[in-house]
Amino acid sequence: MTIVKGKSINEWISAFPDFGPILNYTPFYWGNPYAGEKGTASQEQPLQLEDIQDAEERLKRFAPFIAAAYKETEKSEGMIESPLKKADQIKARIEEITGQTIPGAFYVKLDSHLPISGSIKGRGGIYEVLKYAEKLLLEHHLLSEKDDYSKIAEEKYRDFFSQYTILVGSTGNLGLSIGVISAKLGFRVVVHMSADAKQWKKDLLRERGVQVVEHPSDYSKAVKEGRKEAENDPKSYFIDDENSKDLFLGYAVAAIRLKKQLKEQKIQVSPDNPLHVYLPCGVGGGPGGVAFGLKAVFGDAVKCYFAEPTHSPCMLIGMMTRMHNEISVNDFGLDNQTAADGLAVGRASGFVGKVMEPLLEGIFTVSDEQMFRLIAEMADAEGIHLEPSAVTGLMGPSYVVQNNPNITEGHTHIIWATGGSMVPDEIKEAEYQKGLAFKRKSDVK
Ligand SMILES: *Cc1c(COP(=O)(O)O)cnc(C)c1O
Repeated sequence: MTIVKGKSINEWISAFPDFGPILNYTPFYWGNPYAGEKGTASQEQPLQLEDIQDAEERLKRFAPFIAAAYKETEKSEGMIESPLKKADQIKARIEEITGQTIPGAFYVKLDSHLPISGSIKGRGGIYEVLKYAEKLLLEHHLLSEKDDYSKIAEEKYRDFFSQYTILVGSTGNLGLSIGVISAKLGFRVVVHMSADAKQWKKDLLRERGVQVVEHPSDYSKAVKEGRKEAENDPKSYFIDDENSKDLFLGYAVAAIRLKKQLKEQKIQVSPDNPLHVYLPCGVGGGPGGVAFGLKAVFGDAVKCYFAEPTHSPCMLIGMMTRMHNEISVNDFGLDNQTAADGLAVGRASGFVGKVMEPLLEGIFTVSDEQMFRLIAEMADAEGIHLEPSAVTGLMGPSYVVQNNPNITEGHTHIIWATGGSMVPDEIKEAEYQKGLAFKRKSDVK
């Protein structure tokens, strides 16, 4: 008999009846009973709004370098940001599919189209590399905070950075973001990839001179290998997706940016007209950082929800049991196999789980079949291709409306679409066709 932390599976199910649908891979919504327990973004939290503002200031210092190094950011003057787009067509399709009317305005936040890396990882991953680069240059008196950072694109800085190695363990997109920016700066980069990582992501990194180490097992193992390799070398720096505060802060800056976009688009946010934000969750850093930032900026006027694959609900089981990173989906016999490579994580970040416990309204799970279907729906309705991880948030609003009779037209839903623009065309087409088959099948029903 399987024993997890001293309890049999049946004992877990009687303590937490929601293990029923979880262990059957059934999509469902879990409302977080610990939401609001310690107040929002309170004094007790390890990070504060000032830390997020400090991160935003650092990104502003680097903007001239980014603009010089990446043509596509010239127009935004080196700010790496994505559009917020009204999405009425997909809203109508979701209402039809779920049979649930969704009161309120409906937007997608297109991190799928974030410059440089084409995924939400461009926020945290790029920020942490830039912070490390700045620290090295300041320590060696090669830079002052008042300088024009565009000079970092010069050859002498590349030579300097080439003595240092950046390491990371990744299911794909984090390696892609960190690999691309690190290679641009001139760092040596080693990315430890898990078995789920897509071939095209590995190929793209190798093309840019990044060393890719492939592991036959899952993401936690890839992270462990990266961490171990860095320990033995003082000139190497390991970016720790499970524990890094810098990654988290890079993601959190999204909240300051979103506040500006909401204002530009005249979208009201108040406790009476709240924002509901739906974020796909893997290890937790990306969605946790964004949600933490939003709570710091908007307080109770924002409600955040995470989406996870039915096959990898690591944050859900960690938060529900309050065991966080002490348990994994594999402990309960779940296989952690999903097409959503960005979310294929069996054990959540303990740091993020604990920070989010009082701040998160709920978590819902999404099947792979639903993901492919949503890829086709999104492409047909809005003309936007998203990768499997990135569509999961779309299932959220109908659950939230079903569980909350107070949602009215004054509310705003934001689906965080976390990746997809860099997927090669032939893979986009294959994903779309697969989704179309599911779509047709259910239209007939
Ligand atoms: C990584 C990733 C996520 C989730 O971020 P975590 O920090 O792993 O929770 C969501 N969507 C995409 C496309 C990703 O690559």
